[in-house]
Amino acid sequence: MIFRTALLYLSRQHRLKDVITGLPGFSQLVQRFIAGEQLETALAAVKELNRSGITATLDHLGESITSEAATYHEIAEYQKALQQIAAAQVQTNVSVKLTQLGLDISEQLCLRNTRSLVEAAAQHGNFVRIDMEDSSRIEMTLRIFRTLRAEFENVGIVIQSYLYRSVQDVEDLLAIGSRIRLCKGAYDEGEEVAFPAKSDVDANFVKLMQRLLVSGVYHGIATHDDAMIAATKAFVQQEKLAQDTFEFQMLFGVRRDLQVKLVEEGYRVRVYVPYGEAWYPYFMRRLAERPANIWFVVKNLVKG
Ligand SMILES: Cc1cc2nc3c(=O)[nH]c(=O)nc-3n(C[C@H](O)[C@H](O)[C@H](O)COP(=O)(O)OP(=O)(O)OC[C@H]3O[C@@H](n4cnc5c(N)ncnc54)[C@H](O)[C@@H]3O)c2cc1C
Repeated sequence: MIFRTALLYLSRQHRLKDVITGLPGFSQLVQRFIAGEQLETALAAVKELNRSGITATLDHLGESITSEAATYHEIAEYQKALQQIAAAQVQTNVSVKLTQLGLDISEQLCLRNTRSLVEAAAQHGNFVRIDMEDSSRIEMTLRIFRTLRAEFENVGIVIQSYLYRSVQDVEDLLAIGSRIRLCKGAYDEGEEVAFPAKSDVDANFVKLMQRLLVSGVYHGIATHDDAMIAATKAFVQQEKLAQDTFEFQMLFGVRRDLQVKLVEEGYRVRVYVPYGEAWYPYFMRRLAERPANIWFVVKNLVKG
C-alpha cells in the first residue's frame, strides 16, 4: 500500500522522469509495457496481437496537457493513426484521455477536440474509448461523454469499481446505451470517494460486471485478476450468455499467457496498446499495480 502511494506520487513528478529512467533495468521494463515511441512500432505490435486472435485499442500516450497547441498535435496524431489503421486493416480502435485533449485548459476546447476525434473515427468506421482519469476529472469527463454520445454511436467510456459513485454512474450511462469498459481504477483516491479495501473494490467489480453483462450492450471487462475473470466466466455460464456479447480487456505486456488462453477458450480479448514519448506517468501506474515489477528494477540495481 505504501509502495503504491509512493509510486503514484512519483508518477505525477514528471521532473523525475530522467533520473528514474536512467536506473539500470528500467528500459527493459518500459519496453514490456509500452509498444515503442512511434505509431509504426505500435501498429506492428497490434498486427502481432491480431495474429493471435486478439484485437487492440491504441493509445497515444500523453496526459495533463496544458497548451492548446499541444492538444492539436494529439488530434493530428490520432487522425494519422486512424488513417493507418484503416489502410493496414488492423483490428484496433483507439483510447484517449481527456486531459490529453485539453480538459485542464477548458471544457469547451476539450469537447471540440474530442468531437473532432470521434467524428474522424466515425468516418473510418472506428470507435473511440474515453479513458477515465482521477476523480477530480470525472464530472467533466462524463459531461463531455454524454454530449458526444447524444451525437455519435462510436464512443465509449470507462467506469472504475473503486469509486462509490460507480453503481449510480453505470445506471445513468446504461440509460443512454453507453458502451462501458469496467476496470478497478488506477489512481490514488481518498476514502471519501473510493473503497480503501481491495476486497470491497473487487466485490463492487463483480457486482458491476454482472449488471453490465445482462444490459444487452457490448461492454469491456478490463482486468488481469484471476478471481474477476473466474467470476465473469461463471456469470456468463449461469446466465447462458453468448461469449461474443462482451470482451475481456488487458494491458499490453501484462498476463500475455492469460490473453492467449482466453482466446483459445473462445472469449474475445482486446489489449490496450500504449505508445509514444510521454510514457512516464502511465508506466509508473503500472509499477504501482504490482510490487514485483519494482523488485525487478531493484535486483538489477543491486547486480549493476
Ligand atoms: C484495458 C484496460 C484499460 C484500463 N483503463 C483504465 C482507465 O481508463 N482508468 C483507470 O483508472 N484505470 C484503467 N485501467 C487500469 C485498472 O484500473 C487497474 O489499475 C489495472 O488493470 C490493475 O487491476 P486488475 O484488475 O488487473 O487487478 P489487480 O488486483 O491490480 O491485479 C490482479 C493481478 O493481475 C496482474 N497484474 C495487474 N497489474 C499488473 C501490472 N501492472 N504488471 C504485472 N501484472 C499485473 C498481477 O498478477 C496481479 O496479481 C485499465 C486496465 C485495463 C486492463
